[in-house]
Amino acid sequence: MNVVEIVTQVRAGERSAVSVTEESLGRIASHDGEIHAFLDVQADRALARAAAVDRTVAAGSDPGPLAGVPIALKDNLCQRGEVTSCASKILAGWRPPYDATVVSRLEAAGAIVVGKTNMDEFAMGSSTENSAFGPTRNPRNTSRVPGGSSGGSAAAVAASMVPLSLGSDTGGSIRQPAALCGVVGVKPTYGLVSRYGLIAFASSLDQIGPFASSVADAAWLLEVIAGHDARDTTSLVMDAPSLVDHLDDGVAGLRVGLCTDLLEGCAPDVTAKVRSAAEALSAAGATVTEIAIPELRYGLSAYYLLAPAEASSNLARYDGVRYGNRVDAEDVAAMNTATRTQGFGDEVKRRIMLGTYALSAGYYDAYYGQAQRVRTLIINAFASAYESVDLLLGATTPTTAFEIGAKVGDPMSMYLSDVCTIPTNLAGHPALSVPFGTGDDGMPIGVQLLGPALSEERLFRAASVLEAGAGS
Ligand code: GLN
Repeated sequence: MNVVEIVTQVRAGERSAVSVTEESLGRIASHDGEIHAFLDVQADRALARAAAVDRTVAAGSDPGPLAGVPIALKDNLCQRGEVTSCASKILAGWRPPYDATVVSRLEAAGAIVVGKTNMDEFAMGSSTENSAFGPTRNPRNTSRVPGGSSGGSAAAVAASMVPLSLGSDTGGSIRQPAALCGVVGVKPTYGLVSRYGLIAFASSLDQIGPFASSVADAAWLLEVIAGHDARDTTSLVMDAPSLVDHLDDGVAGLRVGLCTDLLEGCAPDVTAKVRSAAEALSAAGATVTEIAIPELRYGLSAYYLLAPAEASSNLARYDGVRYGNRVDAEDVAAMNTATRTQGFGDEVKRRIMLGTYALSAGYYDAYYGQAQRVRTLIINAFASAYESVDLLLGATTPTTAFEIGAKVGDPMSMYLSDVCTIPTNLAGHPALSVPFGTGDDGMPIGVQLLGPALSEERLFRAASVLEAGAGS
């Protein structure tokens, strides 16, 4: 069932929010044993809130634009009084004293939070296998990964357990799992969605964004969560963009650049789909040209200095005193060490060490400083590309979903899963992944649309065209 149908029926009193929520909880109960998309299901709380929405409808008041729509939240989004663990042992059982702004906005809009989803620990990973609480499985083939780090949120939508979910995208963690699970995933412009209450990974890159099974549903959700928030100093001072009203405006006259550097190293079945997406846009009236942006190939290396550097600073707060769990020892230094040694998983430790090294005196300029210069190079390269095209088109991921276990022992091959998504984060631009058929193995393929800052309306229009033209 899609979001518009749910909202229309609930608002008209034709269907109760309680029955919609029961249906979602029922699907979670029957499917999540196998998929493990959820770390926590909030059945009682969700049903109580759904009943409140139904009372609002019965009283003739406005229940909001997402009335009765079940939604799942990535477990790095703070929810007052509900466990928010970031899939880490160090935060296991932690209950935040406040709601993230996105959570308050969703609830004010009448959405029903049904639970928290599994993820790579602290959002570091591309397969959800770095969760301290066990991996999530891809609903399209349970021997495959769902992608990551927002794998639980992608899988929850792909398995129709919820129509909507939220994830976070620092280097691809919304778009990559969306592509691998066959759903729509959007990374908005940096600053468009408040990060107040998002547990920080790499603050200059992190953005919250939607997962949905259709472009329209994703647009509906983004309109609710976007817009200025004084509690996030990086929040843009503007209203939410109007997306839903423009979904059918088409792409006639739009200049689309098929970015050959966003096909580098991609499997032939993925490349073929991106090329047929280009044809679909061209058939709908867009002017498609090939464009090379060779600077993008440096994105991955720059990201793996900048993101760990920021993470090493952000994660210093988990010291056994200020946040999270403590492992006692004879003095404070030993307590800090024991807490962090037992609390963090291997990938998180790897990032903290890499980041600390990149920031250390003597190496700062060679690593962190150089990566910042590369970031500027990429920003400038995008800027000059967007002088001649309105949007870029490329692959979201180099391959379809890989087998569980295939890359856990090889960090570099795991990191390469995000080679096509990372450049956008470095630039702060929006991008989305829309399903476009399947690969040779029958697994979903997503194609990626990228645009300059605040080009969401254009991206959604083009995504609608691709959604309508997606083959198998
Ligand atoms: N997979 C990338 C990483 O491990 C991106 C993660 C993300 O976007 N949160 O850092």
